[in-house]
Amino acid sequence: MAKKNVGPQPSDFAEAELDLERSADSDIDIDQLRALKQQLRTSHDRLENLIKSIPAILYSVDLPTMELEIYSDIEDTLGYAESKFSNLQSWYEDVLHPEDKSTVLNDYANWMRAGAEGTLSRAYRLRNRCGQYMWVRDRTRAGNKDERGRVDRLFGSITDISRTMTAHERLEKIAATVPGAIYHYHIDTNGVASFPYTSAGIESIYGLKPEEVRENGELIIQAIHPDDRERVRASISESQALNEEWFCEYRVNFDGQCKWVTGYAIPERHDDGSISWYGQVIDTTTEKELQNELELQKRSLEKAQQIGQLGYWRANVETGELYWSDMIYQIFGITKGEFNCTIDAFRSFVHPDDLPEVIRCEEAAPQTGAFDVEHRIVLPSGEIRWVHELADYTVLASSPVLIGTVRDITEQKNYQAQLERMSMTDSLTGIYNRRFFVEQLESSFSDWQRRKNACCLAIFDIDYFKQVNDTYGHAAGDSVLVRLSERVKKRIRKADIFARLGGEEFGLILPHTELQQAQTLLEEIRNLVATQAFTFNQESFQVTISVGVTEIGSQDSDYDELLIRADGLLYEAKNAGRNRVIPGY
Ligand code: GH3
Ligand code: MG
Ligand code: MG
Repeated sequence: MAKKNVGPQPSDFAEAELDLERSADSDIDIDQLRALKQQLRTSHDRLENLIKSIPAILYSVDLPTMELEIYSDIEDTLGYAESKFSNLQSWYEDVLHPEDKSTVLNDYANWMRAGAEGTLSRAYRLRNRCGQYMWVRDRTRAGNKDERGRVDRLFGSITDISRTMTAHERLEKIAATVPGAIYHYHIDTNGVASFPYTSAGIESIYGLKPEEVRENGELIIQAIHPDDRERVRASISESQALNEEWFCEYRVNFDGQCKWVTGYAIPERHDDGSISWYGQVIDTTTEKELQNELELQKRSLEKAQQIGQLGYWRANVETGELYWSDMIYQIFGITKGEFNCTIDAFRSFVHPDDLPEVIRCEEAAPQTGAFDVEHRIVLPSGEIRWVHELADYTVLASSPVLIGTVRDITEQKNYQAQLERMSMTDSLTGIYNRRFFVEQLESSFSDWQRRKNACCLAIFDIDYFKQVNDTYGHAAGDSVLVRLSERVKKRIRKADIFARLGGEEFGLILPHTELQQAQTLLEEIRNLVATQAFTFNQESFQVTISVGVTEIGSQDSDYDELLIRADGLLYEAKNAGRNRVIPGY
């Protein structure tokens, strides 16, 4: 068949006119015929103009010869001479992009096999005369079918879609730089879901290709982990109902592994009642795993802090900002939300007596690289507790910070104090023991050697104490030791050291006291013991003491000499009849 580039030619019509006139029966009115001719010419002109006005190449193909008839002017669009294409095969051979050939032919074969129903729509690249490729959309429809269902002719149009394809390619290029995939999700008025557009990245997330989900949005929903599916559906419905941004984290089972995905999209309602979402979906498995790991570590840390009664804190020395772990709030006896956590606020908890030391340690931290201090805090309840702060000084993101721990050491401190007390006190009377007394005497002696401040030493012993035990029992004797200690303790000054030296023997160190004053005091004490009766089990009895008292003097070279001298004076008092004070140098 002859190539016809611009539809039916005027010459064709001239021939047809002649034919008409020749074959006209004599009974046909010649005027009528002319009018018909004129009508035909007008229709033809109209059609031709219409075809020329269509921005597409219109064609038809005769089957099975494959002869191609092109009705539009292709010189304009492709630059080829009208005579170039006479056959569909040569069209495919000469201008079709080699990469698109197999798809174009396969699609055609499949469509024909399926009965050539509806429109076959294909997009492919065509080469123009200059060798450049342009994207076109080729829509083909079948003409009449014969009695055996065979198609005799194809009709089609080819439109230039370079501009849309360039936009599409541009979108794909941008989409490739975005993590995950970007998409357009659509739910029509019947509730049918589709993905009119998904970038290529969708396959790495759901294992589904853009063309697979284009018509069937449900495929993606089915790819979601069964435990999360309904939640995702609900979140989409909510976004639809409230017309609010959609955000959801969920799992996807794909390729034998479960991964975490985060989706975000903005909905847009259409006039027809359907709705579209434009959004992005990202594989956040690594982030989620890190987040879970972090959460786990945080919880372990919290647990460890609780077990160790250890709080964790971080202070920005420059800005005064302070972070406290939950444990610290517990240690400080305050509620997290009700406390504005700053360095200043922390300082307000520090015991006033310890604050200077705490601030000194803080200020020294840049030099020492550490902050290590034990101090007391005053809780809102008024309770005083001991804490140990241990921190490192470092620079984080160009800010000087202290990062460290705080531990409640109140129990430890109490225990320590108890141990200390135990090591220096007598368990029965609670006053100092002999070990501590001797230590103090030694230091009082060296103090005297330096300063020569008067200082006296007294030793006293209960008279006939054996008889108390023998008459009233050992418990009565013990109670006398306790009561007597209390009486004496009340009478002496804070600076005086009073101790039980053993059995029923006691010692007194009287700093800043001369022998005369000491004698007077000891007489008072002797009198205090002797004049007030002791009672035990409703029985009342008196005891007396004998006292030896001496003052440190230049003749003394050692504190031992003092003890021996005081002991000697006590012995003298016993010998002199007891219940008396004997002073001496
Ligand atoms: P003096 O000192 O006047 O010479 O007579 P004394 O009876 O007090 O002297 P001695 O040293 O012979 O007796 C001391 C007694 O003190 C012996 C012991 O039973 C008693 N004693 C020592 N330590 C304790 C104690 O812790 N509790 C009681 N109840 N008695 C004690
Ligand atoms: Mg004795
Ligand atoms: Mg005695």
